[in-house]
Amino acid sequence: MTTGKVIIISAPSGCGKSTIINALMNEGGINMQFSVSATNRAPRGSEQDGVDYHFLSDHDFREAIAGDAFLEYEEVYPGRFYGTLKSEIDRIASAGSNVVLDIDVNGGLRVKQALGEEALSIFIEPPTIETLRQRLESRGTDSIESIDARVDRARYEIDQAPRYDARVVNDDLNSAVEQVRAIIVQFLSK
Ligand code: 5GP
Repeated sequence: MTTGKVIIISAPSGCGKSTIINALMNEGGINMQFSVSATNRAPRGSEQDGVDYHFLSDHDFREAIAGDAFLEYEEVYPGRFYGTLKSEIDRIASAGSNVVLDIDVNGGLRVKQALGEEALSIFIEPPTIETLRQRLESRGTDSIESIDARVDRARYEIDQAPRYDARVVNDDLNSAVEQVRAIIVQFLSK
């Protein structure tokens, strides 16, 4: 599917994963591009269509599944679907870049299993579940129900962390960015 390598980054929602990925992308220096996933959830905060996600209606997401548009997709939260578009992987591969996937643990472990050594899987975790809940609450973009669902989901995802190639605890943002950067640089140099 791709001529480059695939970097899978998974983390419970609210772990600072997007901030870390954006920091790495903005610093530049690594030949990689972010694969923009599709989702049927609504945009949050300042999220932009085509930049953070391709925001699709329920109907359009179902059509994309039927049209075999996804490399993988998951119902990460009840009724909330997220998927990696084949068109994104093709676009990035044609540009001669490596691909960064920000995907949940089920999708991440499946892609890693399919690609083996061609993929690197990194799990970013919060120092504790309590810190994660506080971060979700202070973000102020989710309802209490949504925060509860995300914390429950985080427990499940953290249980899967030992199956990843590398784990980084995000207790200090700059340090987490540098650790992730070093792990990626080492992988791409192989
Ligand atoms: P959020 O709603 O916080 O943006 O994302 C929720 C979860 O969906 C995160 O764990 C994120 O990594 C995951 N996710 C985002 N895009 C994809 C995708 O294309 N495939 C899969 N399997 N998970 C995704």
